[in-house]
Amino acid sequence: MAEVDAGLTAPLAEIFTSIQGEALFAGLQQVFVRFRGCDLGCPWCDTPAARELDGDCRAQTRPGARSSAMPNPVSVADAAEAVRRILEADEAGAIHSISLTGGEPLLYPDYVAALAATLQPLDLPIMLETNGQRPGELRRVLRFIDWVAADFKLDSAMGRPLDADARAEFLPVAQRKRAFVKIVLTDAATDEELLGVFAQIAAVDPACPVFLQPVTPVGGARPPRGLDLMRFRALALRYLRDVRIMPQIHKLLGLP
Ligand code: SF4
Repeated sequence: MAEVDAGLTAPLAEIFTSIQGEALFAGLQQVFVRFRGCDLGCPWCDTPAARELDGDCRAQTRPGARSSAMPNPVSVADAAEAVRRILEADEAGAIHSISLTGGEPLLYPDYVAALAATLQPLDLPIMLETNGQRPGELRRVLRFIDWVAADFKLDSAMGRPLDADARAEFLPVAQRKRAFVKIVLTDAATDEELLGVFAQIAAVDPACPVFLQPVTPVGGARPPRGLDLMRFRALALRYLRDVRIMPQIHKLLGLP
């Protein structure tokens, strides 16, 4: 990108700081830029408000502070300024990294690329959280981000088949940067489908960290039993070297 277009806009849901509650960066404080809109509609979605395109962006400067409304769509320049305000208020230097999350950020690849390029001088790792179904869009943003958190969905949890080819194409692109995979598991998960996904990941990188996340009960979705989770992990270890079971810890902490 020769010059960043700071006037690009996208619908955002919120810009705030909290503890990352999932996967590899769990327990670390991040600044989250949450996009509006998502093309999947997971039955257990824990950010349903962010799937709606309508509504303001809520921006916060400190943990627990009242947020203020930014009219949508938000420009790259205004989003970057809101991130900078949070970092300026972080006198302890507690913030580890920046998460571009959703919703689905890759619905807006030009904006993600421009925002990440604008945030790069802040010298914090930039992580993209995505549902892992848009390899073409990932290619367009990859050079501006440091980490890809791929949230692979199981057909059993979605209640419908997803595009397995898109998922297979996604991970080799993500692996050009640092990447890890999270898989949300419901009590409908089967050995067969999980073995298929584990083999797909291992074909790209058997050392890729994989997190098995029991679903936080929402909308009738129920997590697998603990013993089933242990069995799924053992299955994964046939193919993969770094597999961990981890629930969403920010929910336990009562944090957003
Ligand atoms: S991909 Fe994420 S934001 Fe979209 S519906 Fe699923 S859980 Fe919600």
